[in-house]
Amino acid sequence: MRRTIRLAMSFLASLALSPATSAAPVRDDPLLRPIEADYAARRFLTPAPPVHVFGNTSLVGFGGLSVAVIRTSAGLILIDGALPQSVRDVEAHLRALGLSIRDVKLILSTEPHYDHAAGIAALERDSGATVLAGAAAVKTLRAGGLDPGDPQGAMLDRFPAPRKLRAVSDGQRIHLGGVTVTAVALPGHTPGSMGWRWRSCEGNHCANIVFTASINAVSTDDYRFTRHPELVATFRASMAKLRALPCDIVLTSHPDNSDGDRKLAAFLKNPHPNPWLDGDGCKKAADGFEARLNDRLAKEAKP
Ligand SMILES: [Zn+2]
Repeated sequence: MRRTIRLAMSFLASLALSPATSAAPVRDDPLLRPIEADYAARRFLTPAPPVHVFGNTSLVGFGGLSVAVIRTSAGLILIDGALPQSVRDVEAHLRALGLSIRDVKLILSTEPHYDHAAGIAALERDSGATVLAGAAAVKTLRAGGLDPGDPQGAMLDRFPAPRKLRAVSDGQRIHLGGVTVTAVALPGHTPGSMGWRWRSCEGNHCANIVFTASINAVSTDDYRFTRHPELVATFRASMAKLRALPCDIVLTSHPDNSDGDRKLAAFLKNPHPNPWLDGDGCKKAADGFEARLNDRLAKEAKP
């Protein structure tokens, strides 16, 4: 008995003194700590190959979450940052396209929710880029995702806050290396939601590309959009705005809001004709958002 105790004691002592494994210890990086790991892996981070979509524009994100990159003569512009646990994948996707995170000068944010923005702080650190977002979104990003006015606010995870943030306003033009990206305020899903649009050319063929923020009516269970007609009006105005944009290619922050999975599969099979080229893409995405809003309002109206 005594011997067993002594052995157990010495085993415990050896545990305390020697490293847990012979492998190099994994340093905990606060900016890469996974958020909602299982849910995110199933819903957002399903694998997708990085693809060159059109002209200067590529996708370097995932099956359930878009991250776009625009090449300019003065460096790269990244749109959205996905999650902390996917930062290394985004960086690997850039490398696979012959690009480097170190060349990213600007990171544009569509909405300050963890699925799109929680990886931005690490991507900002790795690149030295400046992060641009709508004024209300900048406030929320600074607070690591906390916005008490957000209908989803109470159920959302907090995340590392980016440091070098700059607010942009609706219609503001951002210039980098011969490319102009215009900010398109699309409030509703969050007050600071921002879409981004630019022109891209392949030889003589130029296309208007829109990366739209989600205009989805999502909330905690107890929230009633029917009791917030002003917010419903805001949603409808954003949908009308998206519909009216010059738009040859729409990219949505979640690909399934614009049939992105089908477009990607078709593109991988045969890139000509380019499945992303669709003059009705923004209209269809807006219609999809509107159908969901109407559904939600109808459900709430049921006794
Ligand atoms: Zn969201």
